[in-house]
Amino acid sequence: MDVLAPDDHVVVVGAGLAGWRLAEGLRRHGFTGRVTVVGAEPHLPYDRPPLSKQFLAGRWDRDRVALAGEGRAAELGVDLRRGVRAVALDADAAEVLLADGSRLAATRVALAVGVGARPFTTPSSGALATLRTLDDAAALRERLERLEPGERVVVVGGGFLGAEVATSIAASGLTPVVLEAAARPLVGPLGEEVAGWLAGLAGEASIELRTGVVVRDVVAGTESWTVELADGVLEAREVVAAVGSRLELGWLEGSGLALDDGIVVDASLEAAPRVAALGDVARVVEVAGERGVRREHWQVAADHAEALARAWAGAEPSALAATPYFWSDQYGKKIQLLGRPRPSDDVVPVVGSRGAGRWMALYARRGVVTGAVALSQPRALMLAKPLVDADARLDDALAEAPWER
Ligand SMILES: Cc1cc2nc3c(=O)[nH]c(=O)nc-3n(C[C@H](O)[C@H](O)[C@H](O)COP(=O)(O)OP(=O)(O)OC[C@H]3O[C@@H](n4cnc5c(N)ncnc54)[C@H](O)[C@@H]3O)c2cc1C
Repeated sequence: MDVLAPDDHVVVVGAGLAGWRLAEGLRRHGFTGRVTVVGAEPHLPYDRPPLSKQFLAGRWDRDRVALAGEGRAAELGVDLRRGVRAVALDADAAEVLLADGSRLAATRVALAVGVGARPFTTPSSGALATLRTLDDAAALRERLERLEPGERVVVVGGGFLGAEVATSIAASGLTPVVLEAAARPLVGPLGEEVAGWLAGLAGEASIELRTGVVVRDVVAGTESWTVELADGVLEAREVVAAVGSRLELGWLEGSGLALDDGIVVDASLEAAPRVAALGDVARVVEVAGERGVRREHWQVAADHAEALARAWAGAEPSALAATPYFWSDQYGKKIQLLGRPRPSDDVVPVVGSRGAGRWMALYARRGVVTGAVALSQPRALMLAKPLVDADARLDDALAEAPWER
């Protein structure tokens, strides 16, 4: 896509991390034309990672999760339309239709609409509460604040989000019980071996994690919930589901864009000649003919926004390495993952020991480093980053051992 001209009008759909950062970045890199950001939620742009951590645990309030204060959009000359959803896109004309009936005639459109929470639906209670938005988190926090210390809260789903929610619930003095369908959480993203190393984390934090559990139904009582399992029953004062995400792209059917478990974009985030997609929703095809990858990681969304802002505003390409990065704070530990490992990659421990609860390992495929994973070893992970960025040979990485410096 060409560099924007001052008479261009950029419409950004989605006022989350990627959308807001793109608007800010366009200004920072010198674009002076019109920028409109459309957000379905009524709030100022805010950050999601603290929702399951500091915000849910009651340590942060709404102001601390904000990405922009009141007045920031006006300062930047950005027309921020809150509480209105885009309901249709004409990709050829770069025109966006909003739920209030208005039409935005753009010259460039950026889709940063993220994902929603995957619903967990039960026969008796329908869809359980989930945690994706600030409103979800505020509602859950309010319900938890009404409980007495020690009361039980069931978390359905033991992945990254479920583990974080359980950690915050425990920090609030309540008793979480995590119900995970798989034999072990996190095998998908981390592979069997590393997931095995992490299997004891919940127990070490005195949080009950039940694996291989099938939830058959959840029945609401006057004061509590009855969670019916394949092999028993669990009473809980609250229940929340954290079972993954779901794309909400029905409104883009017929837009002319390629949709395939996300909005398909090329390496420059282009979905059509005048339309880009970025953040959680973007399936980036780096090698023509391959299916590409979609990642729901904070750093990836931020990197997309910066790269696109620079490209559109005509600034130097971003020096940021495009190595994906993800972290999760759970059970009192920090898990960090860098790179593009596959679950089947070799795992080579290089720092610390599992017994000490602080370690780092490299992932490697055919002798080449594909990633690094760390448990509460943030410094070692960052020292390993250049090796991951450079697709270093495993032998060279082990000889160099930058994490020992
Ligand atoms: C509770 C929680 C904790 C997380 N913790 C971590 C973590 O520890 N580490 C990590 O790496 N990542 C974490 N993530 C993921 C991270 O927050 C996301 O990767 C990041 O928010 C993606 O940014 P985005 O802008 O693509 O999407 P979002 O932040 O989801 O923003 C998309 C916005 O678009 C709006 N929207 C959707 N459809 C429309 C429409 N049709 N019209 C207008 N607006 C629309 C949505 O309402 C939303 O506000 C967490 C996510 C959640 C929910």
